Amino acid sequence: MWRVPSTDNFFFFVCRCYGATKDIYQKRFDILYPIYKKTEKVQGQIKNKNCDATPISRTFFCQDNISALWTRLFADEPSVFEKNYCPTLNCKNNNMKNVVLFPTDYKTLIQRGFGSLQKTLDFDSVIYNMHCNYCDGNSRIRRRSPNFMIYIELDIKTRQQKEGQECKLRELPVYLTVPVTNEDGSSQDLRYRLCAVAGYSSAHYIAYCRRASGRWVSYNDLMKKAEPTADSHKVLPHGALYIKNIQ
Ligand SMILES: [Zn+2]
Repeated sequence: MWRVPSTDNFFFFVCRCYGATKDIYQKRFDILYPIYKKTEKVQGQIKNKNCDATPISRTFFCQDNISALWTRLFADEPSVFEKNYCPTLNCKNNNMKNVVLFPTDYKTLIQRGFGSLQKTLDFDSVIYNMHCNYCDGNSRIRRRSPNFMIYIELDIKTRQQKEGQECKLRELPVYLTVPVTNEDGSSQDLRYRLCAVAGYSSAHYIAYCRRASGRWVSYNDLMKKAEPTADSHKVLPHGALYIKNIQ
């Protein structure tokens, strides 16, 4: 639930007592408003013009899953760029696609746990002879290349589970390797380093950032400031961000 910055006493109470500032709330609102504006409660039409209407405070409902929000915010900065091409004569299938969430084998991840994240990456940089919806043939070529950052959704649960799976921060692999075959046939292993985890707690998200030094810092806007966090800290991870390791 969000309130538009105003002279609202509640809003100033939140800003004064906790870490987030009015400026941060305003910027956050500017980002979220276009996405969630449909949830705004609208005042009904006033029938009697002489009647003093009580204004409804402008309230928006923004509760969402972080990966759903990430998909919308980072549509142009995806985890993977995909190119499809069909060499069949007269077939015009030639398109680009952004894959925002990094493809992951969730069945295996549920079975083996977060420590096996590397094994569950479902990435092929090139696949030949795929089915083509344009010409109904089977000659489509799909090429994928990972971006400089990859986001992996981690909100995993079986049908029986209500909550997802918890883990300690240190259980998530610090490095992931993504093998890539380039268009010229050369290949390379790209290495990615864990830099952030989105942890879920009672309808609230907390950002855990892993510094290059290996130290963890948590950012929780219900706290006054960022807090150093032990790698033994337990979280309910909904997403992890890895960035390309440049050495
Ligand atoms: Zn085709």
